[in-house]
Amino acid sequence: MQTVETSHKKLDNKLIQKKNLVGLSEKEFYDSILELKIPEKKASMRAKQLWSWVYCHGKKDFSEMSNIDKVFRSDLKNHFSLERLKIEKKEKSSDGTIKYLFSLNDNSKIETVFIPEKKRSTLCISSQVGCTLNCSFCHTGTQKLVRNLSAEEIVGQLIAVYDDLEHWEKRKKISDGLSNYQIITNIVFMGMGEPLLNYSEVKKAVMILMNEKGLDFSRRRITLSTAGVVPMIKKAHDELGCMIAISLHATEDKTRNILVPLNKKWPIDALIKTLKDDLKLRNSERITFEYVMLKDINDTEFDAKRLVKIIQGLPSKINLIPFNQWIGSGYERSSQKKIQAFSEIIKKAGFPSPVRSPRGEDIMAACGQLKSTTLKKRLNNA
Ligand code: SAH
Repeated sequence: MQTVETSHKKLDNKLIQKKNLVGLSEKEFYDSILELKIPEKKASMRAKQLWSWVYCHGKKDFSEMSNIDKVFRSDLKNHFSLERLKIEKKEKSSDGTIKYLFSLNDNSKIETVFIPEKKRSTLCISSQVGCTLNCSFCHTGTQKLVRNLSAEEIVGQLIAVYDDLEHWEKRKKISDGLSNYQIITNIVFMGMGEPLLNYSEVKKAVMILMNEKGLDFSRRRITLSTAGVVPMIKKAHDELGCMIAISLHATEDKTRNILVPLNKKWPIDALIKTLKDDLKLRNSERITFEYVMLKDINDTEFDAKRLVKIIQGLPSKINLIPFNQWIGSGYERSSQKKIQAFSEIIKKAGFPSPVRSPRGEDIMAACGQLKSTTLKKRLNNA
């Protein structure tokens, strides 16, 4: 039986739901502080201090913000929170890759993958819950529930991984102040979802990631990967300046229509045209193409030659991704020999064409293997 007291408590909790500062922009920090009715000049200073505590020091508790007086700290505590995304599950691969399953406030799930390498380490983040594109070889596309992530949820993935990998503490330990130590050097929007179909939130998140007084990722270290939302590519490139990757996967429309159904809306010609004509690439900048190697589908010599023709004149790099298997996909990975031969043809034409070695396959964390199993289970039980 519910007592009057408990129902009051529930109501109180709802009324005093605090605004979470983690994942907010510089302007939103300032506006939030103004809500506390302090003079504008002071608000600007406070916002800067708070920003640095949140994004340079990763503080989870207002009481540790030593350059802010006690009274104001308790004011902050009463109005705001420093909440993190909830790690529901964490799996570590034998190759060091870590896959995180996060549970969001509405109980939907997303995945984020940390990929350590010798000289760099990459965080592969999600931009949507699920994905609407239904690429036929991609596991994420089979997840039914889809919604856009907010900028807070996008930035929140990095913050939660920083917490988990003790980035803040390690960074501090290395020098007495703050060192340049970065446990994550690169961010790629190659997790769940199509970032250019959630552009406004992705843009907001990227601006926060790139802010030099905070998380400080340079534009060269952030890559937006798109299946080819043509009208948004130039906009993203102009406004954000970060790196662009295109999931190409086929060299003629008939095959690409099946692999990447978005191609029916924006075919290969239109995609390549915007890259060649509309983007003003900087010196040394190039477009990365991702090309999944599917046995007997898109892996012939003829395909490789046609690919070279398509990208002629466009500074490009072609990442060949051996297909990552998942049960029920109906596709197989091309043989090593075929992949090598394909790569050779592209290299001979003057384009770098590395073969990406699959990471975290044993925990289903490799490209295109993401899908929250929790949701799958729920649907199966329904
Ligand atoms: N929607 C964006 C972001 C996802 S990036 C995009 O399409 O670019 C994920 C990358 O992994 C894409 O290039 C995708 O096509 C590729 N991929 C999907 N499933 C795969 C699989 N099973 N094996 C290898 N690569 C896959």
